[in-house]
Amino acid sequence: MQAERESLDFDIVFVGAGPANLTAAIDLQRLINRHNASATTILEPEIAILEKGRYVGAHLLSGAILDPAVFNQFMPDFLQRGCPLEAEVTRDSAWFLFGQKKIQIPYLPEPFRNRGNRLVSLSKLGAWLAGEAESLGINIFDNTAAVEPVIENGRVTGVITDDKGIDKAGNAKSGAEPGMRLNAKTVVVGEGSHGSIFRKLDRAFALSEESRKQIYETGVKEFWKIPEGRIEAGEVRHTFGYPLPSSIYGGGWLYAFSDTEVSLGFVTSAEPERPEVDSHYNLQLFKQHPFISSIIRDGQLMEFGAKTITSGGFHAMPKPSGPGFLLTGETAGLVNMQRLKGLHLAMQSGIMAAETLFASLLTDDFSEKALHSYRERLENSEAYKEMHMAGNYRQAFENGLYTGLMQAGLSLKIPGLLPSEKAAASAENKPDTGKKHYLKWIQKKAAFRPDDALTFSKSTDLYASGTVHEEDQPCHLLITTEDITDICLKKCTEAFGNPCQHFCPAGVYEINHDADPFLRLSPSNCLHCKTCEIIDPYGSITWVPPEGGGGPGYRSS
Ligand SMILES: Cc1cc2nc3c(=O)[nH]c(=O)nc-3n(C[C@H](O)[C@H](O)[C@H](O)COP(=O)(O)OP(=O)(O)OC[C@H]3O[C@@H](n4cnc5c(N)ncnc54)[C@H](O)[C@@H]3O)c2cc1C
Ligand code: SF4
Repeated sequence: MQAERESLDFDIVFVGAGPANLTAAIDLQRLINRHNASATTILEPEIAILEKGRYVGAHLLSGAILDPAVFNQFMPDFLQRGCPLEAEVTRDSAWFLFGQKKIQIPYLPEPFRNRGNRLVSLSKLGAWLAGEAESLGINIFDNTAAVEPVIENGRVTGVITDDKGIDKAGNAKSGAEPGMRLNAKTVVVGEGSHGSIFRKLDRAFALSEESRKQIYETGVKEFWKIPEGRIEAGEVRHTFGYPLPSSIYGGGWLYAFSDTEVSLGFVTSAEPERPEVDSHYNLQLFKQHPFISSIIRDGQLMEFGAKTITSGGFHAMPKPSGPGFLLTGETAGLVNMQRLKGLHLAMQSGIMAAETLFASLLTDDFSEKALHSYRERLENSEAYKEMHMAGNYRQAFENGLYTGLMQAGLSLKIPGLLPSEKAAASAENKPDTGKKHYLKWIQKKAAFRPDDALTFSKSTDLYASGTVHEEDQPCHLLITTEDITDICLKKCTEAFGNPCQHFCPAGVYEINHDADPFLRLSPSNCLHCKTCEIIDPYGSITWVPPEGGGGPGYRSS
């Protein structure tokens, strides 16, 4: 769009209203308020939080079991303030599923134990944190995506937000508004998994040059209302095995939020080397196992969603700061896959970001050196220690489930048994075995028919995600015409049979194999999970944020 951009000046701009940045903004404003109550020099910084969802929480999805200790550090009166936590975990078990059978894993090592933790809907928690931030006077701009970092003289000086009112062909519709340029002394990037601003900063500032390649999983979730008497509030179950072969990493969960509400979902590895996966299909099969179906049968699907998880662990963490910016939460790689937990780490990084920004505000020093103190805080933190302890947990599974479980289990007794950085790096260079796996798997999947009671098609589930986008806007899944012709419709068809038709949990990609084949995209169905960009074996897909406000409308996820 050619029209002149409006420009606004802020001190701090937070990109993303997830738990990491909301905690950071709240904690920062509280530090400022405490300072102003007794100091002669009053601090009145302009702070903005940008969120691409149509409200805060609309794009937030997690399991979730929250380690609530972080609240004692951040907001000890969280319960009195109405923090929307669900049941406390009272029963905790892990199971190996095979066929129609199950075996309980007899001993739960410490990192897997959850008693005393709290169940939570992240979209509700995010909405509540946003209310806390707004009550402190912080500006939250929902319906607003950051689409481009502004980099001047080697420093991030702001972000550009999304253009509104552009049609499919790129022309301005009536009432169109160009995105704004938001200038900031520091931009705090907390976009969650595989963020689009992060990827640009990663390239510009080589943030990952000293780390291992990041890896991801796709988590697909349903929230159900169930008849009474099936399970007690506070019970959590984790599973390995069925429906996955032991060569593919993943597992399921079922959490009883109350006696009549359960969160259940399935996590499947998202690797370009194994593009044959279909995380939505895996969830449908998972629900058919008697261990799960006995709980949810005759219940009602309330919500569906999908999101990727950053799972590379300690050695895949990027540099968390640079000139003019900080990275928080999952964007900084802070997820402990051994515990399947990132919420408390995201919030802890938010607290450290707030301390760093407060120190910069006090001294009016936002230099790279001043912001580097965030990295020092992180490296001396409990969060960092926890990430270090979990080390290469996820990489232990590169050689299959059984080796992984054994290595991960033994490493709890014998520290250092998890694969070394070198061994883990060699796993990244394994040969391209995708085609063989894909062909075997696709034959089985072809026979699957959802029953619309226990199992659903992608389109039925999509309806339950509340996803909407402005239809008449440029496609936010960028694939060049040459790549469509040469890769999608030729190379990929021959090598993999177009796995995009399977790995997208919303069915956005469809290849028509008529005499004149073509790729049909339905970008308005996109759940913003980012699986396609991560798993596409040819790297032809670039996901960019669509017009702000588009995407899922989660309320309970
Ligand atoms: C299926 C699943 C199950 C999980 N289970 C658990 C669990 O049980 N316990 C646990 O502790 N953790 C769990 N996690 C991990 C946890 O949810 C994340 O680690 C945590 O939410 C990360 O917080 P964040 O603030 O870094 O990012 P997010 O929660 O991802 O929030 C990022 C926000 O930024 C917004 N955003 C992104 N890009 C832009 C942009 N360019 N412009 C504007 N806005 C943007 C997004 O819309 C989103 O609202 C799970 C994750 C998944 C996916
Ligand atoms: S198009 Fe990509 S980001 Fe959107 S739902 Fe499908 S896989 Fe996820």
